[in-house]
Amino acid sequence: MKNIYCSVFGHQYVITKKITLHVYEYKCKHCSVQMTTNSKGELTPLTPKYKEINLVLRHIHNKKMAKQENLLVFKH
Ligand SMILES: [Zn+2]
Repeated sequence: MKNIYCSVFGHQYVITKKITLHVYEYKCKHCSVQMTTNSKGELTPLTPKYKEINLVLRHIHNKKMAKQENLLVFKH
């Protein structure tokens, strides 16, 4: 799906989901194309494969965050 605005000015991404501190999912606000950050920190199209990877990443990340929160509570 090609949007004239996007082919002239480029996509304008907004963050739709924060997966980890470094990985986000983006969506172009003009043509709704979805992108994500890959392991090299580059933008790449959000394919079903990457959606799956991000789900796993987020799961691991949430677990880590929960652990850290527990530690903080424990320290206090
Ligand atoms: Zn676009």
